[in-house]
Amino acid sequence: MKIELLAPAGDLEKLKIAVLYGADAVYLGGRHFGLRAGAGNFTEEDLADGVRFAHEHGVRVYVTVNIFAHNRDLEGLPDYLDMLCRLEVDAVIVSDPGVNRMIRELYPALPVHLSTQANTTNWAAARFWEELGVRRIVLARELTLLEIREIREQVALELEIFIHGTMCISYSGRCLLSSYLTGRDANRGDCAQSCRWKYALVEEKRPGEYFPIEEDDRGSYILGSKDLCLIEHIPALAGAGVSSFKIEGRMKSVNYVAGVVKAYREAIDAYISDPENYRFNPTWLEEISKVSHRDYTTGFLFGRPGPAGQHYAGEIYRRSHIFAGLVRGYESDSGMAVIEQRNRFAVGDEVEIMVPRGESFRQKITRIINKEGAAVDAAPHPQQIVRIPVDKPVPAYSIMRV
Ligand code: SF4
Repeated sequence: MKIELLAPAGDLEKLKIAVLYGADAVYLGGRHFGLRAGAGNFTEEDLADGVRFAHEHGVRVYVTVNIFAHNRDLEGLPDYLDMLCRLEVDAVIVSDPGVNRMIRELYPALPVHLSTQANTTNWAAARFWEELGVRRIVLARELTLLEIREIREQVALELEIFIHGTMCISYSGRCLLSSYLTGRDANRGDCAQSCRWKYALVEEKRPGEYFPIEEDDRGSYILGSKDLCLIEHIPALAGAGVSSFKIEGRMKSVNYVAGVVKAYREAIDAYISDPENYRFNPTWLEEISKVSHRDYTTGFLFGRPGPAGQHYAGEIYRRSHIFAGLVRGYESDSGMAVIEQRNRFAVGDEVEIMVPRGESFRQKITRIINKEGAAVDAAPHPQQIVRIPVDKPVPAYSIMRV
């Protein structure tokens, strides 16, 4: 049985984290032609490094070329595709039929994955794209399990779905809210996430007087979706014929990518190794609850989500742990881990260290040594490099949390 875990790579560091924590494939955007303009997109040099690193670890790389192209966008496209082929990326993610056609004509060996932005919601559309040479479809998020299964029965191409992450309140990412309010166009990868802002009602002759919009005693939640989380439904999705499970979040932190990829890796491995006796392990859900997230929903998988899929007013984001530092190295002679600080931690704290593979462990901080070699009580400055003694060796890219 083949199930691919596909993780976001917002930049080169996140790519390495995704690879080391267990992704089978990563997706990323170059500087041009891809959605998510603010995701720290890859330069050609970064892209070359990223592809090399991923391939050395047996991990595939997919590059987004999924803007809704205007005529002027097509001019530089052949050169860009040429570069992607030279770097031997494994596929491109496309939403525009014209872009797909150009790729099929100019680079027929380059696999095309159809983006979720193309809104494939039925088997006839899937068949249409299959006939045009598309290798894989990232299905629209608005499908039920039954609909996914029906599409699977009608086409041979690969099916991918979003299994985890933030949901757009609009239809499969098609939205003008941000473009209208800020000029930042979601369909060119520059969404300001305007659906998460706080809205009020203003009468035209009373500027500055804001009346709250209250749908019920919890306030207003018309524009706020909960986050998608399908980790408990891996057998059902595999049974429906989905071969790639995609985690959303090229804008998320390295802590987020590490924790979510690790939990899904363990769940998928457990399922693949023994599907008959697979049991969901609640610690996987605990793991993904340690990173910043909204309440979780299963989206449309079991029918229309209704109010239960919306986020109510009040505290929106939650997490059980704070990202304290990223392990940059380990000095075996002194037994010290080299930590790049991300949030304050101090002598006396008990932290959790999550390693890319294997069990996390708890570690009491007994000493902190700064860059100058002096013992300090705390590591208060972001990105500061410090050393702490650890009970066991820790590989680079381990995550320290309090
Ligand atoms: S404003 Fe919200 S719904 Fe619209 S594209 Fe951005 S995240 Fe999606």
